[in-house]
Amino acid sequence: MSVMVDIRSVHKSFGPLEVLKGIDLSVRAGEVTVVLGPSGSGKSTLLRTINHLEKVDRGAVSVDGTLIGYRRVGGRLHELPEREVLKQRTRIGFVFQNFHLFPHLTVVENVVEAPVSALKRPREQAVRDARRLLERVGLADKADAYPKQLSGGQQQRVAIARALALEPKLLLFDEPTSALDPELVGEVLDVIRDLARQGTTMIVVTHEIGFAREVADTVVFMADGRIVEQGPPGQVLDAPREERTRAFLSKVL
Ligand code: ADP
Ligand code: MG
Repeated sequence: MSVMVDIRSVHKSFGPLEVLKGIDLSVRAGEVTVVLGPSGSGKSTLLRTINHLEKVDRGAVSVDGTLIGYRRVGGRLHELPEREVLKQRTRIGFVFQNFHLFPHLTVVENVVEAPVSALKRPREQAVRDARRLLERVGLADKADAYPKQLSGGQQQRVAIARALALEPKLLLFDEPTSALDPELVGEVLDVIRDLARQGTTMIVVTHEIGFAREVADTVVFMADGRIVEQGPPGQVLDAPREERTRAFLSKVL
């Protein structure tokens, strides 16, 4: 299988604080990688470097064979102009903990916005596609509602439909269920599980260990800016090699 995401030797500091201390990670097309780790270990920062929301200080990230945020000219890296970065970003879906929907737009308008403005899709076609995506996440009947009329779980499913509307090569999820009431977590995980079945390449930061065990091809455990261990869920979750992984799992399980 081909490599969809290639993260090489990525370092990132915020002032004196080194948050990513040399991350190497490769994600194959069609696979689901779940990233676990304590708060502050650098998980969100790592996701954000993948679509160049954070600039790396050292190392490089490629998605589908394309270097993100930079162009290589004679062995040297030159940062791409903002509009080129935006174009790269359109093919990498990002789903946040707090949904980030546009509050003044209806559900269907939320989903239609990016394909119309970024991909220049004709509006009628984008609306048809959006309605199909809303059906896929079980929200066909909410198309004309406003975000504040929906539950958190429904809002997050709209956010997923909105990410899918750009036909991303890759979907990144940053704790997609952490802001939800417990009884709404399942409906969001069900949608992500469906996407996994259909072969969507995803990186999911989550503390949902059961979900990781069931859906992940690879589980990555991060602590203190480093990948401590990674492997199939049966290994990392059930027979961790590192003491730090064991200590973390004993707290979340
Ligand atoms: P996680 O998602 O694993 O909880 P983060 O990647 O959000 O971790 O954060 C890792 C560390 O980097 C934390 O100590 C956090 O406070 C710090 N950090 C994250 N973003 C910034 C920023 N923009 N400026 C300064 N420090 C930051
Ligand atoms: Mg985080």
